[in-house]
Amino acid sequence: MDDERSADTGSGRRYVPPGRSLGPPQLDFPVVRNGIDYLASVVEHLDENQSAVGPRDLKYAVLHLQAAVEVLLKARLQREHWSLVFKDPGRATREDFNGSAFESCGTVAAVERLRDIVGIVFDKKETDGLKALAKDRNALQHYGLTHSAPAVEARAGQVLDFLMRFLEREFLPLLEGQERETALQEMASVAAGVKNISSYVRQRLNRLRGELHGLESQTTQCPDCEQMALVVTPGGGHCHFCGGTWHDGEQLLFAYLRSPGTPDVVGRGCPQCHEFALVTGVVFADSPEVSDALYCFCCGARHAARDLTPCAGCSRPWFVEADVAGTVANLCPDCREQLEPEDAE
Ligand SMILES: [Zn+2]
Ligand SMILES: [Zn+2]
Ligand SMILES: [Zn+2]
Repeated sequence: MDDERSADTGSGRRYVPPGRSLGPPQLDFPVVRNGIDYLASVVEHLDENQSAVGPRDLKYAVLHLQAAVEVLLKARLQREHWSLVFKDPGRATREDFNGSAFESCGTVAAVERLRDIVGIVFDKKETDGLKALAKDRNALQHYGLTHSAPAVEARAGQVLDFLMRFLEREFLPLLEGQERETALQEMASVAAGVKNISSYVRQRLNRLRGELHGLESQTTQCPDCEQMALVVTPGGGHCHFCGGTWHDGEQLLFAYLRSPGTPDVVGRGCPQCHEFALVTGVVFADSPEVSDALYCFCCGARHAARDLTPCAGCSRPWFVEADVAGTVANLCPDCREQLEPEDAE
């Protein structure tokens, strides 16, 4: 930690408690939690499984979503430097900041600063979505719902999608230890509710179509969110919909076996890596009509059902071999080896 000591010790402006090194400014975790809490409220209001989304739900969803946007964009700016959340950073003082006695920058300025100073990339759709949400919020606050509810809901879904990714990419990597655990727990309950928001799901799946293009042969259903968005790799996988990540094939296999829709499946011995991680019925995005293919969650091998057959000796799945005259077909190497001494007699 000591080697992170920064060079600006001479300025005397940052108070550093004794024994603490001068690293980059810490993320204000209570602020991040507050942002996640607003998101939880958005999800509650838009969750169609709890109740139909009425005008009042939509109103509070939009108000709280806009609050989450402001809190989280500014929390990220503040981590870069506290003066950046002032409307005019040139006139910022530490005293005003500590006493919260200042006018803060708006959403548009926050996005510009995040882009120009922090280097975060926003695409035009995202910034347009944020502007449209700010307009919806103002209209709702003053006049109630004037636009068509589905359009407002669709825009909210788009911004919700943006914010979930913003949290994942810009905040979670900055958190450590207990704070990280807490944030992950709170995010998980938001992510669980988000599954039931159709505008959000539509928006996210639209975007994912581009993101997952070219990865269809590795894309299968996620055991957590049940969307076709899990990209598997040997020994793990990452879901582009819910962000679920498995760095261990065994853990992913357990998650898969526990997920709904895979009741009677067991992991069988893989002919390639010999781990008991070969599962029948894993459907991939490149061939959604094939329901009996086999996939090994350990080494990542995919097999068509016709290519494997139970070994005549031990019944583990093995490659179908040509029936060569004079040999015993469809035996795995272990069973073949056991047979050979007897054959020789
Ligand atoms: Zn998922
Ligand atoms: Zn394998
Ligand atoms: Zn065998």
